[in-house]
Amino acid sequence: MKRGPKPKTNQEWAEGIQERFFAKVAGPDTNGCWNWTGAKDMNGYGRFSTGAAGAKLAHRISMALDAGDDIDPSLSVMHHCDNPSCVSPFHLSVVPHAVNMADSAAKCRHSYGERHPVARLTDKNVREMRRAAATGEHILSIAARFNMSRRSASQAVSGETWKHIKDDA
Ligand SMILES: [Zn+2]
Repeated sequence: MKRGPKPKTNQEWAEGIQERFFAKVAGPDTNGCWNWTGAKDMNGYGRFSTGAAGAKLAHRISMALDAGDDIDPSLSVMHHCDNPSCVSPFHLSVVPHAVNMADSAAKCRHSYGERHPVARLTDKNVREMRRAAATGEHILSIAARFNMSRRSASQAVSGETWKHIKDDA
């Protein structure tokens, strides 16, 4: 019987590629962008080889490293800075594909400059997120709805951030 490699934990996966990944990142530049210096596709998006899975979009990998977990394949990773080679998690959001398409069409720049995704939330948003989580909505879906990283969303929901907000007031 053939034995495959032991499946990697997310932690092992991240540690395995982190160094190689960040060796290809320059910045931040004056816009706060982390520019990809490795291979790029015809649209200017960075490509990064993760081994067996082949080359993937570098900004997507950056978001996965930031979140500590794979980005759900049904979701897009969208740039706020309109710089396709940027891999800064502060300039990226995980969103449903439809939102990304609409953004590409409208080139919405309103959130540029608000670097930290958590800063955009209001108390009302946080309560809404916690209610959604309590009713079983997936954290990735909540994160997408509130235009933030999975990590920031789960921290807000768990109360690690936004501690001052108590259950429904
Ligand atoms: Zn950027």
